[in-house]
Amino acid sequence: MTRAKSSITGILLTLLISIGLFSCAPETQVPKEPVITMVIHGGAGTITRDKMTPEQEKAHVDKLTEALEAGMAILQNDGSCLDAVEAAIRILEDSPLFNAAKGAVFTAQGKNEHDASIMDGSTHSAGAVASVTTIKNPISAARAVMEHTGHVLLVGRGAEMFAASQGLDIVDPEYFFDQRRWDALLKVKEEEQSSLERPLKSAEKMGTVGALALDRHGNLAAGTSTGGLTNKKHGRVGDSPIIGAGNYANNATCAVSGTGQGEFFMRGLIAYDVSALMEYQKMSVTAAADKVIEKLTAAEGLGGLIALDAAGNVAMPFNTPGMYRGYVKNGGEVHVYLYGDDVE
Ligand code: ASP
Repeated sequence: MTRAKSSITGILLTLLISIGLFSCAPETQVPKEPVITMVIHGGAGTITRDKMTPEQEKAHVDKLTEALEAGMAILQNDGSCLDAVEAAIRILEDSPLFNAAKGAVFTAQGKNEHDASIMDGSTHSAGAVASVTTIKNPISAARAVMEHTGHVLLVGRGAEMFAASQGLDIVDPEYFFDQRRWDALLKVKEEEQSSLERPLKSAEKMGTVGALALDRHGNLAAGTSTGGLTNKKHGRVGDSPIIGAGNYANNATCAVSGTGQGEFFMRGLIAYDVSALMEYQKMSVTAAADKVIEKLTAAEGLGGLIALDAAGNVAMPFNTPGMYRGYVKNGGEVHVYLYGDDVE
């Protein structure tokens, strides 16, 4: 090539790169400066205005806001999406308002059994714990499983021994006692004795917490933590610690956390389904999330999910009367919603 030709080629290449038509970087949909984003949910279920006092409403909004702000502060300080997800979920786990850790519902035997999972969208590594009774923050144990074992899921006593060996907080099971949750167990038991309601059908038995984050490096993470369903059988594990069912993250598609009747989420691989629709059908995160909730509804399952893509687009569909949910982008205004008729 002559010197003149090569310099013309050089100028053309520079032009193409500068107008974004050609890039030497690997192909990716992630914008150059990701919109750092936090999304959370505090469970789907019978959340209606008539059932909430102004004080209860404020308490829920305040706690969800605190969790979103804690996650966002980490992202703004260049922290990782995993750190942001874990921090936000720990705040919700420490609150009696939500069905996770401190606020966990009771099993049929009057115990609290916790499930949690976390997934890293950049490496597709994941960790989870199930049926644990003494770990103060199950989400941190899930993360430790991901980072310090070659495994994905540890259950029961083995998970608790591992958490203790990692120096995580271990508490007496009594720590999780909550009078409101106890009363709910008694009510559900009474209802089930006096009605023909299908077991696990009621939206009142549900709740879970979840968080998603997109960090400055364009990485996505998802976490989910729950006490499960009120009056569940001893040993029952739901979707929350099952990767692909109640939790999923993949930088190439989205991060998802679900809440609802876990048996439906497990059979439908709900969280992975959102990602798969994006990957194979090239759907937007909103269209994919809506489609999956449509399928859940058609299967007569109850619940909702939050989803976040690598461009910072957020979807929060559900088919229950309400879902505690919210998001914040780039340290801007915090958006929190509770009811089905809230305008997002
Ligand atoms: N999905 C949870 C479970 O089935 C409960 C919930 O989200 O409400 O364990």
